[in-house]
Amino acid sequence: MEIFKFGGASVKDADGVRNLANIVRDYKQTELLIVVSAMGKITDKLEALAFAYLEQSEQTHSIFEEVKHFHFSLIEELFEGKNNTVYDDVANTFVEIDWLIEDEPDNDADYIYDQIVSIGEVVSTKIVAAWLNETNNKALWVDARNYIKTDNSYREGKVDWDKTYQTIQRDLLPEMQKNIIVTQGFIGGTSENYTTTLGREGSDYSAAIFASCLNASALTIWKDVPGVLNADPKWFDETEKIAQLSYHDAIELTYYGATVIHPKTIKPLQNKGIPLFVRSFIEPEGSGTAITKESNPLPVPSFIFKVNQALISIFPRDYSFIIEENLSTIFELFHQYKIKINTMLNSAISFSVSVDDDEEKIKKLIAALSTQFTVKYNKNLELVTIRYYNQQTIERVAVEKDILLEVKSRHTCQMVMKNKA
Ligand code: ASP
Ligand code: MG
Repeated sequence: MEIFKFGGASVKDADGVRNLANIVRDYKQTELLIVVSAMGKITDKLEALAFAYLEQSEQTHSIFEEVKHFHFSLIEELFEGKNNTVYDDVANTFVEIDWLIEDEPDNDADYIYDQIVSIGEVVSTKIVAAWLNETNNKALWVDARNYIKTDNSYREGKVDWDKTYQTIQRDLLPEMQKNIIVTQGFIGGTSENYTTTLGREGSDYSAAIFASCLNASALTIWKDVPGVLNADPKWFDETEKIAQLSYHDAIELTYYGATVIHPKTIKPLQNKGIPLFVRSFIEPEGSGTAITKESNPLPVPSFIFKVNQALISIFPRDYSFIIEENLSTIFELFHQYKIKINTMLNSAISFSVSVDDDEEKIKKLIAALSTQFTVKYNKNLELVTIRYYNQQTIERVAVEKDILLEVKSRHTCQMVMKNKA
């Protein structure tokens, strides 16, 4: 049994959906579960819709009309004649949101966000399942919210692994023998059956959860790149595809910001020894990247760039040292304001961290830190991580840059840099 995951880019239009069906048709084995994201950039649109509704903006209805229009024109392109049940299925999903936005918001904003944003995946999977059936693949649409069980932390649902495993084993496993299963990434359900989401770009993680709980023999993530590359082509002219990658290296790369796979995806697979393949939906014949236990180090250095970084440097007021007590206060505040530390370095009397520059959050953090510490804040920086670095690779990325902070371990070098003045 295998799991396929198709992201938004793979189903951004009618051709994408046709292509997905061709990949599934060419797949010979019988038991298959397909996890699909919202189409194209629909999640961004739905996010805008949720925020517009929460602010009671005039745009609310027009944004929603755009979302509907996108899906219905795609359906019309795929299905001839209007009698396919997919029209009603999709319309019924939208009706729930029509009702919701009719009244003023009277609930927690994160809860409302999840109820709205989750429909992107509900609708995309309805269309994909209908198209698979239309093209002679027997597909069954299932609601991931019945299987991926989470707590009620809206917008970042924490998975209840025991419940999820039991439900999948009991109710989903038997279905696998009869049909290709089509289900949603990104979304889960609480014990009271309210919809949650697992965090942006969380569909990879959903696919890994299904793979783990079904004890699948492999997970394939179909992407618009030939596999995992040693750098993002956005930043580097020459990139190389990595044919084989260990779980360990994959975790390190994704943790530091390689966006090809969601960082939470690897661990559940590693725990069960399930191989992860990253392959191209544009050239499905390609061999892609295999992520397995295999422990050889990467054959080439990998580069990960994060722009829009802020460097926060913290100094004790009284020139006491940065000791355990100060550090625990500092970490507590980062945790409280939900600011993720991308890299950090401490010396006797200072502590510096690089974080994504989310101004609103950082302002609050700095205000809180400033009651006890002197804080410096430096913006417009980039963070470069090199896995399997050497002097030459460091020089390559540091051309015309000032390095403000450098942290090295045996295999990984991180530098916070800014353009030379
Ligand atoms: N559709 C969601 C997002 O865009 C989840 C995903 O694509 O992985 O964040
Ligand atoms: Mg996506």
